[in-house]
Amino acid sequence: MKQFVDNLMKKMTLEEKIGQLNLLTPGGGVATGEVVSKNVEQKIKEGKVGGLFGVVGQEKVRKAQELAISQSRLGIPLLIGSDVIHGHKTTFPIPLAMSCSWNIPLIEGMARTSAKEASADGLNWVFSPMVDIARDPRWGRVAEGSGEDPFLGSLIAAAMVKGYQGNDLSKEDAVLACVKHFALYGAAEAGRDYNTTDMSRLRMYQDYLPPYKAAVKAGSASVMSSFNEIDGIPATGNKWLLTDLLRKEWGFNGFVVSDYTSVNEMIAHGMGDLQTVSALSLKAGLDMDMVGEGFLTTLKKSLQEGKITIQEIDAACRRILEAKYKLGLFTSPHRNTSNERASVEIMTAATRQQAREAATKSFVLLKNTAQTLPLKKSANIALVGPLADNRRNMLGTWSVSGDWKEAVTILEGLKKAMGSNGKINYAKGADISTDSMLVARANALGVEIEKDTRSAETMIAEAVKAAQASEVVVAVVGEAADMSGEASSRSDIGIPESQMALLKALKQTGKPLVILVLNGRPLTLNWEAANADAILDIWFGGTETGNAVADVLFGDYNPSGKLSMTFPKNVGQIPIYYSHKNTGRPFNLEPSAKFKSNYLDVSNEPLYPFGYGLSYTQFSYGDINLSSNNLSNGQKITATVTVSNIGNYDGEETVQLYIRDMVGSVTRPVKELKGFQKIFLKKGESKTVAFTITPEDLKFYNSNLKWVNETGEFKLMIGPDSEHTKEKGFTLK
Ligand code: BGC
Repeated sequence: MKQFVDNLMKKMTLEEKIGQLNLLTPGGGVATGEVVSKNVEQKIKEGKVGGLFGVVGQEKVRKAQELAISQSRLGIPLLIGSDVIHGHKTTFPIPLAMSCSWNIPLIEGMARTSAKEASADGLNWVFSPMVDIARDPRWGRVAEGSGEDPFLGSLIAAAMVKGYQGNDLSKEDAVLACVKHFALYGAAEAGRDYNTTDMSRLRMYQDYLPPYKAAVKAGSASVMSSFNEIDGIPATGNKWLLTDLLRKEWGFNGFVVSDYTSVNEMIAHGMGDLQTVSALSLKAGLDMDMVGEGFLTTLKKSLQEGKITIQEIDAACRRILEAKYKLGLFTSPHRNTSNERASVEIMTAATRQQAREAATKSFVLLKNTAQTLPLKKSANIALVGPLADNRRNMLGTWSVSGDWKEAVTILEGLKKAMGSNGKINYAKGADISTDSMLVARANALGVEIEKDTRSAETMIAEAVKAAQASEVVVAVVGEAADMSGEASSRSDIGIPESQMALLKALKQTGKPLVILVLNGRPLTLNWEAANADAILDIWFGGTETGNAVADVLFGDYNPSGKLSMTFPKNVGQIPIYYSHKNTGRPFNLEPSAKFKSNYLDVSNEPLYPFGYGLSYTQFSYGDINLSSNNLSNGQKITATVTVSNIGNYDGEETVQLYIRDMVGSVTRPVKELKGFQKIFLKKGESKTVAFTITPEDLKFYNSNLKWVNETGEFKLMIGPDSEHTKEKGFTLK
């Protein structure tokens, strides 16, 4: 590779080298900034383009590659990227939902299938995984990540990279992964997208950086810099981040691409004019400029003025060429642009089945009083709500290549499963939202929230009538697909008012009320938690949503999802996460404790904690057995617990291990997830689950940012979620 790239670079002019650093989008996809590239064809011919995105499909990609290969002077093929976030054509549940499966092979399988489909469509690069730790559900992009926890997030990050890239990038069904958004993008102040981020190095290292690092360690070929600033310097121009940490400390040897015009946006951040911020970015370690053309238009001048060096341009150019080399583009530039793969590998019965299974495993059962669920296929069901028969909103945010017309609605799924058995009385019941400002913004990418011609009263009356004629009400409510996702922050994260009015009217009928929630973020579901008989969180389930809902609602699949992100009681509790610090004035549930770290008007407990999720069956946990109360260097201890299925259904449980370091040279969280195991238990069955703990598991970053062990007392907790755990103490000697 080195020799090949050396030879090629010897032939390249300065302009051609800078050209490789330029990523353009001819439009037609989803443009997330104000700019869409112009004169793309001409620029490709002139060797001024290193890669494209927003160009999908063998024919289109072939044409673009043809321009680069036959019409540019050196014939260097293009990187062809895309936002393949939760599937390509076959759309899987949104990433936040997938993470609630806690099922790492399932997630890797999703990435593998996504890579197969994307590559069959001519793509060779995906802008995924998105691994930003997020603890503020106001931020709409929590939908795209894996929630709040670095341990779970790191496992998922690595699995996705492996799934996308396989073990050989030159294979026809492999694509380059791009871990994003580096870094800390999920910590935007007030949950407002693109907002300022500011945090201590300790918190970065301990909580926010691990998933990026795990993706890099798993071999992610590229990294995308984030929009936000870190320590006052935007990530895209932050040398500490892109060079010292990423390359020197972590050993990353792929290339770094900016986010959409994030180089140019440094002008607005107040870092200087386009030439200045472009030079700053290159010097910081950025290799490729997405859409903004700051590199293309200013780097030559900066070189002439001595503001950057040719070595810096060469280094960036080399990294882009190396990625192309690894993909095998120099030997087969037309890879995947003239084969049968698209027609036989995209959206097949098997991929749909995989998406259906993934969806069933991502649903989280939040409440189920008196075994309201599962329902019988012979039941007489009122199916109501604006999302019950709404194809447009099933895929969720960031499904740029997914075709919503392929999605199965919940009404369709239930009908198909019931056949001629039971009866469904359907009514829409309400509009998703009637807040005109919210509707206008959420509909920016297409009409997801429609206004019905009927009045709210008429729709509610119709739904109430359907409820009265049925044994049970299933209300399908929540967010439209793009009420979460990029630039979709919300300050009120409840179910919209129009739908709340419907729910309250349905409650009045006295019929058992099952609520299915569609959401791209944790929602404040207090009224729902108090009034519904059952709540099933189905997030955005992707192409097979309706069938998956039927599988779970009728008990063909017993729900097993566990929350990867805390559900707050209200927005005032945010940020809220399970691995918080104890503080000097911890709140220990005394009803009226004054001068404690609490609120006057809401308790400290979340509505639903991290790790929480019910099953149709019940699991009981025995006491923890520790192989020893002491752990020494080079040794390990084993914690075992017996879990029994004491309910009436076979089911899957995720047994979770948390550890608390009781005393440290820096304050430590009240608990941290350190392991989990998924077990399947038949009705009446018990299994003993064993976790091994080594000193390595107890390490943390001290105030010098050294990854260390400190001897002393630890508490080990095991349970079905982060709140309901049994515990045992041990000492690290
Ligand atoms: C998003 C990225 C995405 C890029 C390209 C940006 O606005 O932040 O996640 O990959 O657009 O579509």
